[in-house]
Amino acid sequence: MTRPEPTPPATRAADLPPAARPQADCPRCRGAGTVAIAQGELAVAEVCDCIPFCGRCSGSGRVVIHGEDGVQVGRCRCQIHGDRAALFNHARIPGRYAAADFPSFATGASAIAQGQQRNPKFEAFLKVMSWEKEFRPTEENRGFVLHGAVGRGKTHLLVATLRALALNHGVRVRFIEFTRLLAELREGFDAGRSGASTMAELVAVPVLGIDEIGKGRMTDWELTVIDELVSRRYNAMACTLGTTNFSPGGPTGAAIPSLGQTAAAPQTVGDRVGDRVFSRLREMSDFIEIGGDDFREFKRRGALP
Ligand SMILES: [Zn+2]
Ligand SMILES: [Zn+2]
Repeated sequence: MTRPEPTPPATRAADLPPAARPQADCPRCRGAGTVAIAQGELAVAEVCDCIPFCGRCSGSGRVVIHGEDGVQVGRCRCQIHGDRAALFNHARIPGRYAAADFPSFATGASAIAQGQQRNPKFEAFLKVMSWEKEFRPTEENRGFVLHGAVGRGKTHLLVATLRALALNHGVRVRFIEFTRLLAELREGFDAGRSGASTMAELVAVPVLGIDEIGKGRMTDWELTVIDELVSRRYNAMACTLGTTNFSPGGPTGAAIPSLGQTAAAPQTVGDRVGDRVFSRLREMSDFIEIGGDDFREFKRRGALP
């Protein structure tokens, strides 16, 4: 058995040096203190090495302060970067979105709309930015669902929001692509698990981002999954974010276009997930459209990083 670490002697707060901080001009983390990189399937955040050895806690992470009410032991502020990197890692953001943040979305949006009078991507971006500014970790927060055609940067903006919540606000968040969730549940069932713990985790997380709402075959079972997830978060008054390729609206009865054909009328979110799920989503969240040109097309041409 190893001996417990000795408690450092108590000092008055004013006598301690400040906690170690990231360098404001660090080219790697740009002063944020954390960097995210793709590690296989997932994006993983780590504490940036520009943060020097902490003189306040002598690297122990704990400070013992002699205050008016006696001796108090607390965590050192230098630990915040490690804590927030852990929150980001809990989010399970896909590796290909490791670099997706607000500045990179804004850069991409401006590059795409160069010379155009109206920039629909920027309009969506500003709405999301003001949503983030108004977010209060201790209160009930309305969510948002980004909608628009494929390649408009919806997932990028959703991930950028989750990233900001975890790294800047210290909020517990989780990302899930809807068809990925279905696959995980199916694998679980095949292995004899009920899927209850996967669902419980997604219901309990304070902020959940569901990517690709309405994607899939939408069999009866798939519909029960989205219904259960949305209903339970609705009942828990939990903040739910999402993206969808379908337009916000109740069921119209529009059919799925057959392969290679253009649909007479496009399907709505309601057509895909049913009226009950759509109504709840609309009650919990604002639908924000992302228009503008295709991000991926610009990336292919090498016009975007
Ligand atoms: Zn750094
Ligand atoms: Zn410290």
